[in-house]
Amino acid sequence: MRLGVLTRLVAAGLALAATPAGAVAGGAEPVRLEFVKMGGIPVRVSAWDVAPANAEGLGGACDARLDELEGKLSAHRTDSLVARISRGELRTVEDPDLAAVLGKAATVARRTGGAFDVTVAPLVDLWRKARIDGAAPNAEAIDAARSRVGYRLLGVDGLDVGRLADAGGALDLGGIAKGYMADAVLAVLRDRGVRRAIVEIGGDTAMYNETGGAAFRVGIRHPLRRDRLLGVIEVNGGAVVTSGNYERGFEIAGRRHGHVIDPRSGVPTPQDLLSVTVAAADGSEADAWATGLFVLGAEEGSRLAAGLGIEALFVVPGPDECLRILGTSGIIGRLQLHEGRTAEPAASSP
Ligand code: ADP
Ligand code: MG
Repeated sequence: MRLGVLTRLVAAGLALAATPAGAVAGGAEPVRLEFVKMGGIPVRVSAWDVAPANAEGLGGACDARLDELEGKLSAHRTDSLVARISRGELRTVEDPDLAAVLGKAATVARRTGGAFDVTVAPLVDLWRKARIDGAAPNAEAIDAARSRVGYRLLGVDGLDVGRLADAGGALDLGGIAKGYMADAVLAVLRDRGVRRAIVEIGGDTAMYNETGGAAFRVGIRHPLRRDRLLGVIEVNGGAVVTSGNYERGFEIAGRRHGHVIDPRSGVPTPQDLLSVTVAAADGSEADAWATGLFVLGAEEGSRLAAGLGIEALFVVPGPDECLRILGTSGIIGRLQLHEGRTAEPAASSP
């Protein structure tokens, strides 16, 4: 049976496609839902094999879960858990979502030697102000912010927010929250009996497939051309996330800076790495690793990824304005590149 007409409601930052009562998504036609969250980030959902009884209210359930998570994890919402922790108002983490995100963040922080670090907030703030002022911060200002940054401030399990507050620290989950939210939407769909689904949040894609049907083909954005894909990667489940500076970089005094900051040096990552794509078991892991490997750069990042069995693809500038694409073995095997491009094996583990 084919899916009935999709009704698209676009209102006040929310775009929600609702299925009419009794609609069924069979093999080919998915139920599609669309939302806009976190001040403008699109969330797109496709769900296959939706039983009639479950189709109704599916959009509302996803929407409510996304709002709930935004209210917990967003640094921009003054009433969020993250904002309250950053103001020193909460000394323990009671919330299961925040605990899960911080636990995952702690693992990636440790494994990347602090290249991925959700306590990077004071440095993000510093560079945000620099962007507004049009002048880079001086060394003293960078050192002062750096003294309030460090994943170890959160303790071994990553949950010691009281200690973080005592050190004048703050949280920024921008490098992991979208991936976690994609996982959470998939969990809502799974709970409602959906057997195959894909969720994309601002370029982070997570999916599962319990039907035994065809694998998903996830596009990998060209790091320099917005309207082009570099290629596609085939995956049956898990997540594919790309970190790059192309979207939200900025310029100070003629020099381009990325929105990802190296917490170890306190300065934005250099522009010699264009993007990192990670395929992992879930969205939060893929998101955190993509950001962490982006900070480490192609050489160190690919060595670490290969050593730990993280599937990653690094795009760096090549000769004559060409791109060089370096990937770990597992990802190269599932990759189809466009325009006659080829991927080279990334550095193998030491
Ligand atoms: P995007 O949001 O563009 O998909 P990322 O997932 O790589 O990119 O996350 C970048 C965001 O993560 C930044 O905007 C900032 O909020 C935060 N961030 C910046 N540097 C780091 C870092 N070294 N570790 C963890 N999070 C970071
Ligand atoms: Mg990330």
